[in-house]
Amino acid sequence: MSKEKNELPSSSAGKMEKIVSLCKRRGFVFPGSEIYGGLANSWDFGPLGVELKNNIKNVWWKRFVQQRDDMVGIDASLIMNTKVWENSGHLKEFSDPLVECDKCKRRFRADHIDSDYEKNKKFNKNIKCPDCKGNLSEPRQFNLMLKTFIGPAEEKANVAYFRPETAQAMFVDFKNVLNTTRRKLPFGIAQIGKAFRNEVTPGNFIFRTREFEQMEIEYFIPKPMEDNEWQSVFNYWQKEMWSWCTENLGLKKENLGECECEAQNRAHYSKKTIDIEYNYPFGKSELYGLAYRTDFDLKNHFPDSPYEDAEAKEKFYPHVIEPTFGVDRSVLAVLLDAYTEEKDRVVLKIKPSLAPYKIAVFPLLRNKPELVKKAKEIFDVLKMNYMCEFDDNGNIGKRYRRQDEIGTPYCVTVDFDSLNDKAVTVRDRDTMKQERIAISELAKYFEEKLKN
Ligand code: ATP
Repeated sequence: MSKEKNELPSSSAGKMEKIVSLCKRRGFVFPGSEIYGGLANSWDFGPLGVELKNNIKNVWWKRFVQQRDDMVGIDASLIMNTKVWENSGHLKEFSDPLVECDKCKRRFRADHIDSDYEKNKKFNKNIKCPDCKGNLSEPRQFNLMLKTFIGPAEEKANVAYFRPETAQAMFVDFKNVLNTTRRKLPFGIAQIGKAFRNEVTPGNFIFRTREFEQMEIEYFIPKPMEDNEWQSVFNYWQKEMWSWCTENLGLKKENLGECECEAQNRAHYSKKTIDIEYNYPFGKSELYGLAYRTDFDLKNHFPDSPYEDAEAKEKFYPHVIEPTFGVDRSVLAVLLDAYTEEKDRVVLKIKPSLAPYKIAVFPLLRNKPELVKKAKEIFDVLKMNYMCEFDDNGNIGKRYRRQDEIGTPYCVTVDFDSLNDKAVTVRDRDTMKQERIAISELAKYFEEKLKN
């Protein structure tokens, strides 16, 4: 719900450019369809990016599904029956106000360039095109649903939509989940998956794209008799989200903030929304959202309540608190937060649990077969438990710098002494300290070091 500024202030633009360049150079994120001239605002996660992204998703699933006894997961279809979107209100309400420049024809979100738009419900006519100073049109509502057709005939009856949020499947599947898991309130359904929005102004790298991924929870609670009943659950999830940001993603508290959305800015289904914000180089903007969706969605999909309290033999519609987390914005925040320039190196001080590679293994010299053989043996053992990289290219200093730049927490070097003392040098990314560890102890050493 928040509004980012589209232009970057020059000092911070530098940081964003550095991240975009590092991502491309080292294989985190590539421009999509690049060899065909690209496709605006589409990005591909490369070999390191997919590891980082999977680590974020796995840690999230572990924390919010595996380690809780009040949560189950689903993985639903991307394309759902069109009635889902009619009944959820998305076909009517899921839109942004759009203005168009009469000169350069660029389009902008009215609420992004007129900060009083939502308050006044009117676009300030004195505002000109941010690019060419041309005149802007009256705002018109632009639906964000991405359309397609199912089957060979492109006709109205075959129109379908890519989901704009993963949430609706948790409501539509509510009864099936209930019947198969025999859950009692309160409990949650979680899902990780792609969502699509025909955004008016995508941009800022992977911050706003038309295809992105969400990690969402619909947490169902009994129908509240008083406001404090849902408010206490809301406050609980607000704390959980903060704790996820600082403990699991390792984001610095000073880069995080939150803001409650005013009524006119809230999504059509929400009674209260809080945005968890991150201080991106282009300004503070939404990282995640937390909304109280009431019983709006279940009521829309089920004419008769799907839930019955077994003891009270009472039927009612559960209410819902929804914590929602963007995967791509998590990746961006983690990269920005971890990016550190020191005197003679760039380091991604990423949490080891999220780092694409946990350990890099080097033979001191690539042309000494006995060193290469030993290093390969160590690599082959460690790779069974951790994502590891084998690197024998260039001098050791250069190899350390390469691993620092992609956030590898530990480097293991096999040198000539290793052949006699059966030990290796382990170097720590953050402290740059080196210690000698017996090869036979390495598995235990890393088990301890990488346990979180
Ligand atoms: P915004 O106000 O930035 O458009 P929103 O309030 O519409 O976001 P939600 O509907 O709450 O976003 O979506 C949940 C989460 O999905 C967001 O907090 C964000 O992390 C992520 N998200 C939403 N839209 C996009 C997008 N276009 N690109 C990448 N991530 C997105």
